[in-house]
Amino acid sequence: MSPRPDLGPKPRLGYTASLLDRAAERRTDAAALAALESDPRGRAYVVGGEMVVLKKAAEVHDPVFTLSEARALGRTTETVFLGLVASAPRFAVALDPPAAEALKARDEFVVTDLRSIAVRGLVEADHLPPLAEGKALLTWHMRHRFCSNCGAASDPVEAGWRRDCPSCRAQHFPRTDPVVIMLPIAGERCVLGRSHRFQAGMWSCLAGFVEPGEAIEDAVRRETREEVGIVCARVSYFASQPWPFPTSLMIGCHAQAVSQDIVIDRSELDDARWFTREEVAAMLLRRHPDGLSTPPTVAIAYHIIRAWVEEEVDFR
Ligand SMILES: [Zn+2]
Repeated sequence: MSPRPDLGPKPRLGYTASLLDRAAERRTDAAALAALESDPRGRAYVVGGEMVVLKKAAEVHDPVFTLSEARALGRTTETVFLGLVASAPRFAVALDPPAAEALKARDEFVVTDLRSIAVRGLVEADHLPPLAEGKALLTWHMRHRFCSNCGAASDPVEAGWRRDCPSCRAQHFPRTDPVVIMLPIAGERCVLGRSHRFQAGMWSCLAGFVEPGEAIEDAVRRETREEVGIVCARVSYFASQPWPFPTSLMIGCHAQAVSQDIVIDRSELDDARWFTREEVAAMLLRRHPDGLSTPPTVAIAYHIIRAWVEEEVDFR
């Protein structure tokens, strides 16, 4: 086996390791919630559809507003309680998307999507997990205004963590959609693919939604076979990452490939092929002779790929 390359310090996985205490027990306590809403230390993230509003600053921008500042930006809908930061309440406020769009014209704000914020480091990294929480939860509200059981308009309750139907009494909870994201490997080689929407030269892990009634390991094997025709045996869990585009949970795995021939599903992928460990190391270091690269360090794909390059994957 070739010596493992030195890839430098490990960057942080985006949207994870939240410093916020979700304090879920406060959600059902009306008096406690009212006290949190009037706490002068309370701050809110402002989300307008896919956009997040930031206060422009010289270095990193400031993503937090007081509740009254947030509500003065335009028409707002839901306010959800995200949790406590050093005992101070933190909320997320949904701003009408056209109102968020209109703020782009104002010099004191930066209005952009959460991917760009994470990839370009536009805010302190500690804001990314609660921003992911707020954006995923507010997106769920935006897309679930009506009861899926009877069709009546539903009402947000419990500080935004449930919607109740006044007509049929059904209770609806925020959804999270599990996605498997995996690297098929065989000794010194792995399979990477390219989606049609990737920027030129970027290659990444394969990924797909877990289906109802399906185990994570089975989803990894099915998706790998569907997308690239490779048969996998054992699957090893690596780590997970919330991915609020709109409400996914990425479940990162390595998969033991036991066949060689790649058959690409062109409806899913632009391309896929085997890469050597050496070639992938050059991509991670941004030193590939043809300019090929891996995804940015905020994404779990970078970490799944890097773990295979740096360490032995244990298929027990
Ligand atoms: Zn209903």
